[in-house]
Amino acid sequence: MKTLVLKFGGASVAKPERFSQIADLILERSHHYKKVVVVVSAMGNMTDELLTLAREVHPSPPKREQDMLVSVGERISMSLLAMALDLKGKVAVSLTGSQAGIITTSNHAEAKIIDVRPHRVLKALEEGKIAIVAGFQGVSREGEVTTLGRGGSDTTAVALAVALGAEKVEFYKDVPGIFAEDPKKNPAAEFYSTLDYTRALEITQKGAKVLQSRCIDLAAKNNLPLHVLPFSRPKESGTWIGRLCRASAQSPVYEEG
Ligand code: ASP
Ligand code: MG
Repeated sequence: MKTLVLKFGGASVAKPERFSQIADLILERSHHYKKVVVVVSAMGNMTDELLTLAREVHPSPPKREQDMLVSVGERISMSLLAMALDLKGKVAVSLTGSQAGIITTSNHAEAKIIDVRPHRVLKALEEGKIAIVAGFQGVSREGEVTTLGRGGSDTTAVALAVALGAEKVEFYKDVPGIFAEDPKKNPAAEFYSTLDYTRALEITQKGAKVLQSRCIDLAAKNNLPLHVLPFSRPKESGTWIGRLCRASAQSPVYEEG
């Protein structure tokens, strides 16, 4: 059976009770996929709050220390989700970006993924565990904790899926999928049930925050299908992003290097 990567954004994990709901969703998906990897963002506005906190101490914080601080947000989510799964009798292991082998350039706060060495993720999957990975963060070749830029958890999910040869990434959002405009601002905005990579890139580069455009670029390079779904109604069809037919397998290509 194939590997599935699931991604839960900040809005999906905004409240503590959400972890139990997400755990149920993961259990349901794990009936269809033997190997399930979950990437999480920080809860709600936690990243903004941590950045504000840093500025209360230093008007222009050293970027290395800022990365040490903001990377904490995703660690909170990953460990709470592992606890929620444990309560439902499913063994899960949470891993930081560094532990999951997300290797990045060394430019703090805007690092790019240059390699993925997911040994510990693979080990967890082999042991029948759900692997939960902190999004938005990695480690440089010098061993420093880095972050990928705002919204970077989407790119973590895609990079891991590429490295693991996953079938697709499912992104659970607080909207039904991708619209031509923000549906919260314009309820009449056109909904897309399918998009090719080029069109999805255009839409996200124009400012639709539903996915980080870098993750679409990375998915396109590797021909990896993406599926955007509403968190509260996961049975809905959502938006599919991909090519009409899959090209033959190739070796992974990351962001840089
Ligand atoms: N928590 C980070 C942010 O708010 C990363 C993410 O959500 O993808 O930008
Ligand atoms: Mg966030």
